[in-house]
Amino acid sequence: TTHVIWLRNDLRITDNKALHAACSDADAKVVAVFIATPGQWRQHEMAPRQAAFIHANLLQVQQALAARGIELVYHQCNDFADSLTWLVDFCQQRQVTALFYNRQYEINERQRDAQLEQQLAGKVVCHSFDDSLLLPPGSVLTGNGEMFKVYTPFRRAFIQRLMESDVRSLPAPPARGDVLPLAEPEKFNYPQAEVGAAYPAGEEAALQRLRAFCREQVQDYAKQRDLPAIAGTSSLSPYLAIGVLSPRQCFNRLRAECPEVLENPESGAFCWLNELIWREFYRHLMVAHPALCKHRPFIEWTDRVTWKADDKALLAWQQGRTGYPIVDAAMRQLNQTGWMHNRLRMISASFLVKDLLIDWRAGERYFMSQLLDGDLAANNGGWQWAASTGTDAAPYFRIFNPTTQGERFDPQGTFIRKWLPELAGVPDNDIHQPHRWAEKQQRALDYPQPIVDHKQARLDTLAAFEAAKRGG
Ligand code: FAD
Repeated sequence: TTHVIWLRNDLRITDNKALHAACSDADAKVVAVFIATPGQWRQHEMAPRQAAFIHANLLQVQQALAARGIELVYHQCNDFADSLTWLVDFCQQRQVTALFYNRQYEINERQRDAQLEQQLAGKVVCHSFDDSLLLPPGSVLTGNGEMFKVYTPFRRAFIQRLMESDVRSLPAPPARGDVLPLAEPEKFNYPQAEVGAAYPAGEEAALQRLRAFCREQVQDYAKQRDLPAIAGTSSLSPYLAIGVLSPRQCFNRLRAECPEVLENPESGAFCWLNELIWREFYRHLMVAHPALCKHRPFIEWTDRVTWKADDKALLAWQQGRTGYPIVDAAMRQLNQTGWMHNRLRMISASFLVKDLLIDWRAGERYFMSQLLDGDLAANNGGWQWAASTGTDAAPYFRIFNPTTQGERFDPQGTFIRKWLPELAGVPDNDIHQPHRWAEKQQRALDYPQPIVDHKQARLDTLAAFEAAKRGG
């Protein structure tokens, strides 16, 4: 018997359900497969940085498997359709008896897997697993058997369910043979990019970060998580997004360090668990409402908002040249590192939609094209939240003021100065409105004037949403 484990968004060997199951028969020959689909990634607008991160982590998985005598076959083709053709053929050539994979929940991925199972029916037994979530989609429902539309009751039901579930992490498979030689996977046929030293590849690096965060930082998470000048969050999202780390590993490590996490909702540990549950919420939601994968807003009337087609303003936002320091610093952090602090994702998304009145989908796409942690469900959920088009969204009349948000969350302007060196000489009190200061000082600033007046923009946006709500 030959088992194939098809690796996709689960680039790790510990706590990998499909890999564990594929290796559970000690007599079976196990072969791992990874198929790069750069054409598909282009369609999904995956950031080149994320592709580079996948490549670096693939290499680590390949080494870890080779050390256990498991071959990893790497193939590169164009899109999902091509990957199926190749995989079906591969199964035939290698006389594969069973195929193991961890489920992905986006619509194209689900269609691909359904087609694969159809094509292999009667020839290869397929085993699939819910691995990238603490609890499977569809397992946390309202009393009427529906997916929750509001987060807080979802969380309540989720925690109840979590306490009843076995979410122990699985060990890495034991060695099955001699160490195999390595042939480094060829580069992806995708724009090349650097990942940066802040995110070393490999599950060991991810686990180390997780351990250190849960031991040393999680207690302060509730106090620090909204301050972008402080590294107060885990920075684990790039690893979670491509499955170098599993949410079970996160939860189990958290519980090992903070055994009372579930009983203590005021604690930093609970607050962090809450974020992991947001991640689950958006994925469960995407499965219950596949239209979310197709650029549809959850609240239908919001599709009637008349957005502005303002390419110049969109570009200024993308490049961090809006004249609003907290927004610009955030966008430059994104452009330079591929990661952005959560509070800043909320502020910059709100600015695009509510101050520039630009369609949230343009922002969603741009984020995806830059993010090292790009994840359809979390990104879409975050954008629809900020745009007031989603479930449990901020109501449309609640509009962030980018200046006061900056004052609140970066009071001394420490974060702003890090990313906008042109504002280095502006005093703390004026950092959020540097032109006001420059005028008083009769100085010239090499920094753009605000591209929009927030007060007026707010009124325009309210009017646009109200018109849409009334019926266009
Ligand atoms: P921590 O605060 O340490 O949280 C731990 C983990 O929980 C994160 O790694 C992440 O996996 C998950 N998480 C935290 N917050 C959220 C959230 N609000 N929604 C869903 N999951 C969450 N997250 C992504 O992983 N990929 C994205 O593409 C993405 N796009 C976003 C777009 C917008 C407009 C907004 C508002 C949020 C987005 N988020 C996204 C959620 C969040 O900003 C990031 O997960 C977080 O900033 C990652 O940093 P961290 O690992 O230090 O998080």
